[in-house]
Amino acid sequence: MQHKPFLPRLNGPALAAAYLLAAFLPLGLARTQSVAPADQWELAAAAMGLVALWGMAVQFVTSGRFESVSGRLGIDKIMAFHKMAALWVALALVLHPLAYVLPTWAEDPDLGWIRLRFYLTDPAYLSGVVALGALIVLILTSVLRDALPWPYEAWRGLHVILGLVAVLGGLHHAVAVGRFSAQGVLAGFWGLVALGIGVVMATLYGWRWWQLHRRPWRLASVSKRADRMWELDIQPAPGTPPLPYHAGQFVWMTEGRRRFPLLDHPFSIADSPRRDGLSLLVKESGDFTNRIGDLPEGRVIGIDGPYGEFTLEAQGGAAVLLIGGGVGIAPILGILRDMRARGETRPVRLAYAVGQPANFACLEELRAARSALDLRLWLLSEDGPHEDDILEGRLTRTRLGEMLDGLDPVQTRALICGPGPMVVGVSDTLLDLGMPMRNVVYERFDYAGGARSRQDRARTRNILSVGAALALGVAGFALMG
Ligand SMILES: Cc1cc2nc3c(=O)[nH]c(=O)nc-3n(C[C@H](O)[C@H](O)[C@H](O)COP(=O)(O)OP(=O)(O)OC[C@H]3O[C@@H](n4cnc5c(N)ncnc54)[C@H](O)[C@@H]3O)c2cc1C
Repeated sequence: MQHKPFLPRLNGPALAAAYLLAAFLPLGLARTQSVAPADQWELAAAAMGLVALWGMAVQFVTSGRFESVSGRLGIDKIMAFHKMAALWVALALVLHPLAYVLPTWAEDPDLGWIRLRFYLTDPAYLSGVVALGALIVLILTSVLRDALPWPYEAWRGLHVILGLVAVLGGLHHAVAVGRFSAQGVLAGFWGLVALGIGVVMATLYGWRWWQLHRRPWRLASVSKRADRMWELDIQPAPGTPPLPYHAGQFVWMTEGRRRFPLLDHPFSIADSPRRDGLSLLVKESGDFTNRIGDLPEGRVIGIDGPYGEFTLEAQGGAAVLLIGGGVGIAPILGILRDMRARGETRPVRLAYAVGQPANFACLEELRAARSALDLRLWLLSEDGPHEDDILEGRLTRTRLGEMLDGLDPVQTRALICGPGPMVVGVSDTLLDLGMPMRNVVYERFDYAGGARSRQDRARTRNILSVGAALALGVAGFALMG
């Protein structure tokens, strides 16, 4: 069944414009308040507080769980924004008390320290200090996540709690002692923001928890597809409606008594929407996935989705390159299965790269697809070929050039999913080979940083320009006096 979005899904520039307009709203409302005269540093300090507080609140909807926010961008881009916005929010919050005392500091450093100590220790400012502390711990635990000895779920729970402490502390601080926010229209505005955060939390952890229980799915079968890789056939339980989705999207999945949104895991749908139910291809890689092959048939499964923009519907194109590395073949397989089901006629070039031949999943199905589609296949294993049609080594520039041979790079779309370094290398090489950046789409299974492609760097520049626009807004607010 095809997926029709419930709410309009905005593209990147529209979302950036909406973000900026909304961030400037508290500054505009502050202008309507009559407050005691303030110098430019105090105005800048207040503006940074207002913009940072709004930015913190928005972080709750840029978590990748709201399709109307992340639907047109995909999880990679929305997580990149989420991470970078956290940094400018933190920077503004650290500068917020400093800018208040800066003029005093310049004239009399001792008095400057006394004022700063007062802001950090006076009980009236406690909620603001707690908010700042929570945000700093949140950012440190996120940057150091891979080094922390905690299960991912514990980190995720802490992340939500620290985020709530930071934003609620910040809201309390604003309405308790804020120069502009303590009364009038801005106090009402922050009340609405608090309400909005309540609605977001109720949606994520109340409504979605209820949906996981009200609309259960069942595990129909688990089959081994490669070394430590399993295919799950999941079907809606009686009364559960089918899931409308596009091939290549992903769902959040939980099972049995773990059916709570904080305990779910993202998995790409390795299936065509033209088939009933969902197929997931899961690689053992940690606490949850290591047990996936032992799940009994009939086990209740919770499915939340679909999410993501890694789809052909979103990309179009006269010819298609599909490139999967390791378990990154999962969404690629879904797209291929859907192309077969739809009787696709465009030329399709598919490369599947693994470390060892034992890691290849569904090889026979891929080979058989050649008789139904205009498909050419590159199967690559770093560790020896073992079979005639398997090439040894990686997806080099020469091999990517072969894949594009006879195709117009400008009319071709590439969808890449795999380990970070492979995605980066392949994406950059395809750009070198003449493909426009907008035609190269990728999804990574890990949000952690790591290697960055040219497209990542372009994305970073775009996101930073949003941060720069916010800084200009703050400066304008201060300079207008
Ligand atoms: C959009 C997307 C699609 C994915 N599709 C597939 C797929 O089709 N097949 C597949 O095998 N894997 C897929 N993954 C990766 C899969 O979600 C993780 O391997 C799995 O969640 C690991 O859980 P664990 O408890 O077994 O391992 P852990 O040891 O808990 O985690 C290993 C790593 O997996 C990531 N991870 C763990 N839990 C989560 C979570 N709840 N949310 C986000 N990341 C998490 C973290 O980076 C963590 O460091 C996908 C990931 C993303 C983001």
